[in-house]
Amino acid sequence: MSDAPTSNFIRQIIDGDLNSGKHNTVVTRFPPEPNGFLHIGHAKSIVLNFGIGDDYKGATNLRFDDTNPAKEEAAFVESIKADVEWLGFAWKELRFASDYFEQIYDFAVELINTGKAYVCDLNAEEVREYRGTLTEAGKPSPYRDRSVEENLDLFQRMRDGEFDDGAKTLRAKIDMASPNMNMRDPALYRIRKGLHHHQVGDAWSIYPMYDFTHPISDAIEGITHSLCTLEFEAHRPLYDWVLDNISIDCHPQQIEFARLNLEYTVMSKRKLTQLVDEKHVSGWDDPRMPTIAGLRRRGYTPKSVRDFCHMIGVTRADSTVEMGMLEAAIRSDLEAVAPRRMAVLNPLKVVITNYPEGQIETLQGPNHPKDESMGSRELKLTREIFIDAEDFREEANKKYKRLVLGGEVRLRNAYTIRADEIVRDASGEITEIHCTYDPETLGVNPEGRKIRGVIHWVSASEGVRADVHQYDRLFTVPNPGAKGDFLSDLNPNSLKVLKDAVVEPALVAVEAGERFQFEREGYFCRDSESSSDGKPVFNQIVGLRDSWGG
Ligand code: ATP
Ligand code: MG
Repeated sequence: MSDAPTSNFIRQIIDGDLNSGKHNTVVTRFPPEPNGFLHIGHAKSIVLNFGIGDDYKGATNLRFDDTNPAKEEAAFVESIKADVEWLGFAWKELRFASDYFEQIYDFAVELINTGKAYVCDLNAEEVREYRGTLTEAGKPSPYRDRSVEENLDLFQRMRDGEFDDGAKTLRAKIDMASPNMNMRDPALYRIRKGLHHHQVGDAWSIYPMYDFTHPISDAIEGITHSLCTLEFEAHRPLYDWVLDNISIDCHPQQIEFARLNLEYTVMSKRKLTQLVDEKHVSGWDDPRMPTIAGLRRRGYTPKSVRDFCHMIGVTRADSTVEMGMLEAAIRSDLEAVAPRRMAVLNPLKVVITNYPEGQIETLQGPNHPKDESMGSRELKLTREIFIDAEDFREEANKKYKRLVLGGEVRLRNAYTIRADEIVRDASGEITEIHCTYDPETLGVNPEGRKIRGVIHWVSASEGVRADVHQYDRLFTVPNPGAKGDFLSDLNPNSLKVLKDAVVEPALVAVEAGERFQFEREGYFCRDSESSSDGKPVFNQIVGLRDSWGG
């Protein structure tokens, strides 16, 4: 599924390859490591890869890059599949890099046989010392010239579990003086013993490195264009070296693009894992998290996430995107489709003194002011109602479009009321406003009287209590961690729970995930869980206007 494919430099390369006859079809892949939940940065890669697969009528595989069992889990595999599907995409093949472990091993043996790989006994620290620096060539490992026979024997014994973690690696024999550090005899295999792998169980004591696994997996799957983020640019010569030096026909083209950075949040899985593990958030799907699961729970639509990815485009220039862009995407999606409802977030009681006690009047409220086809819902008017405390002032000048003592406003979809009297408790706090309504004003404005504005309301007896969660940015600075520990930039007030909110009756029986515009407040979504005291919970998705500027 792709809504508004905009061209970009990658699509131009693909167009060129199709026109020149280099390829007659396009195959891409999205290759997440199952070591955490997907985030909005991954969405950029998903929309790019699957969007290309769809638009060119080619194919896109979902491939789990599962070469590090220490950090990976089957539960993450499932969450990633669910997130890709939720975003609206379908993979051609579901693969795991571990599906290819036997083939990858055979290619390693081939490299040993051709004298292009060797078993090295240097430990990690020694490898670093031997590698040299950006300005100094490295030194050859003392094990670099082992015979093919010795290498084959040692590699087999590495596989058999004879050596401890870190005791040996298999390294490519490339160029210890290369200006590209990745080409200075990079590791191809390392020993990871005694780990249970979520796909292959206990079958392996050695695991191939990403830089060896990735080009081979791409080639096995017939990927034409292997799209990755810019930090892999310096790995491209190694990607090409691997494919040039093993017996495989396919040679995908690696193309790099800039990763997405979003203000006021973090996107590294390590940091997101830390937020979850240390309980700074309620889980991977906490509505403040930049994860797909968090955005979904918050109330973002798949379309809004895809639209956002189209809006930001694909380039090779690193940049940080403003949160306002993501919010603009969901706002513009929901404006046309979210049913309108009334919810009073900070209730103040209004008694309509000339309204008959015990009367419940059913009124109609259109679900959308500009779309009659969305129909209407029933509103219940009673003598006692709630309005928002923000919508009343004892005194105010003419610019105040809400209720003022002695002034008149319209209750949305109902009558006009005038505030006659303020009732206070012993401490002087306002507890109630006594008003009178004008029964002649349903759908018509009174002649010769000034109505200041329209406010929302909910019947005190027919409305229902709910918890409303309002969110602020998760971090207080645009680039968390720039000056030290990212956790010290956490916003302590990122979640505000309003426990006294009252919502209209039509909001009682709504499903988790249903989205509404609460009139004059913003867009809200019913959460999947209820509050501890059994009330429905509504998450604020986004306000009605951009509140991030400045
Ligand atoms: P992290 O560094 O947070 O662990 P990662 O890049 O290692 O992230 P992977 O699961 O390996 O995460 O990523 C899968 C794919 O998503 C890769 O092709 C990667 O380039 C891409 N990707 C990850 N983060 C971003 C991002 N912020 N913007 C665009 N693409 C991304
Ligand atoms: Mg990775």
